[in-house]
Amino acid sequence: MDQGDKAFRGNQVYEWLWQKSAHSFDVMTNLSKETRGLLREYFVINHIRVDQMQRSKDGTIKNAVRLHDGLVVESVLIPTANRTTACVSSQVGCSLDCKFCATARLKRMRNLNPDEIYDQVVAIDNESRLYFNRPLSNIVFMGMGEPLMNYNNVLKAIDKITSPAGLGMSSKRITVSTSGVPKIIKKMADDGVKFKLAVSLHSAIDEIRTSIMPFNATFTLTNLREALQYWYNRTKSRITYEYVVWEGINNTQRDVDALVDFCKFAPSKVNLIEYNPIDDGKFQQASKTALDRYVGTLEENGIVVTVRRSRGKDIDAACGQLANKH
Ligand code: SAH
Repeated sequence: MDQGDKAFRGNQVYEWLWQKSAHSFDVMTNLSKETRGLLREYFVINHIRVDQMQRSKDGTIKNAVRLHDGLVVESVLIPTANRTTACVSSQVGCSLDCKFCATARLKRMRNLNPDEIYDQVVAIDNESRLYFNRPLSNIVFMGMGEPLMNYNNVLKAIDKITSPAGLGMSSKRITVSTSGVPKIIKKMADDGVKFKLAVSLHSAIDEIRTSIMPFNATFTLTNLREALQYWYNRTKSRITYEYVVWEGINNTQRDVDALVDFCKFAPSKVNLIEYNPIDDGKFQQASKTALDRYVGTLEENGIVVTVRRSRGKDIDAACGQLANKH
């Protein structure tokens, strides 16, 4: 500070903001009244506020998070027997236009800044301690928005999450999920990031993928594949493909074979996600027979496949359902 205060005051304020997530200068009780007054006069703390918290019958918690300018994003706490996972948002709305996702129906308003991302994580860590008596263990960037279209801020938030002065969490417990922006995937590899990469694939056939994820017309599977090979060569980190199987869209043997081929380009595993309906439209979860065909064929080809059941559906907290309904 230019106001002639002692340097250690700076460290005290830093601790309040970083480690204790203080929302006001008034709580900084180890500072003098005068210092607090000065801080109030010269600075604002743009903190987030959990406006509404909904709890699902399966334990999942969804937060409606109000930002300093009044916009709202959602984040989700997903408890399992021995983990608590935070699913956080990176943008208000989304820049992409995936036909099966509720968030895509919201206009992209703006990117979240690093603190707005970090604070969602802190809020969920607090809830995890309060309701489950344990700290947060994992983070997935699978909330609202396309993290790679807000890459710099996501990276800064992750730096803070992993920093000992922040939450001190391991990067290995963080997964960034993307629809696949080839240029940024390569940049991440060059940056030597240590978190995990998940790619929302949903089809390994260009015309089908473009029909459900229109940005695939620009960032084609060939570009994506090339970027993923680059990623693997540099990071040696296995890629997870997220994949939903829909009736009449990607449920044939040709679709499965295309996925198997795609998986051969770089070490990877497949996560088959249950579809969470967002309306009565053209997307319907495929039959069990179709899912079994995917699992069977992938396994025969030595590809690890898991089937992910959705959590928090009753409160619209599951994948693809985040749409600020309330
Ligand atoms: N923009 C990032 C993060 C978004 S959501 C991305 O595209 O990866 C996380 C996952 O939920 C993505 O794999 C997304 O494709 C999937 N998803 C979107 N809508 C869904 C729905 N209605 N049911 C199930 N999964 C959905």
